[in-house]
Amino acid sequence: MATDTKPPFDAADPLGIDDLLSDDDRAVRLTVRHWAHERVLPYVAEWYEEGEVPGIRELARELGSLGALGMTLTDYGCAGASAVQYGLVCLELEAADSGIRSLVSVQGSLAMYAIHRYGSPGQKERWLPSMAAGETIGCFGLTEPDHGSDPAGMRTFAKRDGADWVLNGRKMWITNGSVAGVAVVWARTDEGVRGFVVPTDTPGFSAPPIRHKGSLRASVTSELVLDDVRLPADAALPEARGLGAPLSCLSHARYGIVWGAMGAARTCLDTALAYARTREQFGKPLGAFQLTQGKLADMAVELHKGVLLALHLGRRLDAGRLRPEQVSFGKLNNVREALEICRTARTILGANGISFEYPVMRHMANLESVLTYEGTSEMHQLVLGKALTGLDAFRG
Ligand code: FAD
Repeated sequence: MATDTKPPFDAADPLGIDDLLSDDDRAVRLTVRHWAHERVLPYVAEWYEEGEVPGIRELARELGSLGALGMTLTDYGCAGASAVQYGLVCLELEAADSGIRSLVSVQGSLAMYAIHRYGSPGQKERWLPSMAAGETIGCFGLTEPDHGSDPAGMRTFAKRDGADWVLNGRKMWITNGSVAGVAVVWARTDEGVRGFVVPTDTPGFSAPPIRHKGSLRASVTSELVLDDVRLPADAALPEARGLGAPLSCLSHARYGIVWGAMGAARTCLDTALAYARTREQFGKPLGAFQLTQGKLADMAVELHKGVLLALHLGRRLDAGRLRPEQVSFGKLNNVREALEICRTARTILGANGISFEYPVMRHMANLESVLTYEGTSEMHQLVLGKALTGLDAFRG
């Protein structure tokens, strides 16, 4: 009789997705998982309750040493890693907290990516090495108080004054704003939308933190205030002309979210599984009831489908074949399903589900931000709807 060569069932990887990863991919994942276990998990519940990440600059430097900042970029101290490896890092970081993944996404995929893709050689030399090392934190200012999903209406204006630029306006909901040493700010000009690299110690620039958040509390979110901020001519990103430039950065960051959201979902499923095995009602563990098993099975199905989707998109990005509509597909599905997984986990934990003694409510609340930022789920439906029908429904 032929021997059975099938590997045993692995509850942590029921589809055997690990077989699709290289040894290097798994090593990168393990390094970041260990780091998050040591440096984030023991403290993050307290940071969340306090709404402060006290050692954020030190964390940024450590993430820099791990090569996690601007990870897929080349030169200037960046790791030049594959998109799949970057995705695995996002997943592991978000398994700890979406706020820590947001720090890395905004630093690497938004601020550094914008300078790397659209900056002058001088801008790259000046900023990228210290950003890759986590010595300088960056932020990315596109959203305004009155212009979120439709940034084309932005009011922040950059006016030429001799050789200088003078910026006036407000940006809102800017991740990393108050701790940033450099801000990539998008502004309307007489030549269309342009990007500016703004050292945050420039007179007229301030970044007051936004308080009273009910989500992403282990993340710095700020307003950017630009009052007659005078910048030299070479502060403008020379290659960035029009709204397509910031949108291309967002597409890169959204790709990381496709992976990251599955990290939050994984933690919630793991927590619900552990709870369902030990908590007894009606004389049996919760996990022995069919209704609970139905929930757990559906959560596992959506989690691992989401990881497969993320891996598929990562392979396409590495092959230079990933389209923005495909990123929308991934962000729409994975964040929506991750949120559903977290909500279902919360029901399995009963009253404990609402306690910050467990990570579920924190992840669930975080994902409400993740559903909204980098293009709301509705915007991604509209992107896909347009691609499917050929009809643009953005304006009703
Ligand atoms: P709105 O655009 O006012 O939308 C409100 C609702 O209306 C949404 O449900 C939306 O989908 C819906 N809607 C809008 N238009 C349509 C339409 N045509 N059809 C159907 N429905 C529609 N921005 C940055 O620039 N940089 C950052 O670092 C950053 N970090 C963030 C961090 C956090 C924690 C949060 C919450 C947000 C962050 N943002 C950042 C802002 C984020 O990108 C915006 O909140 C998002 O784009 C939505 O904009 P809005 O909040 O103004 O909502």
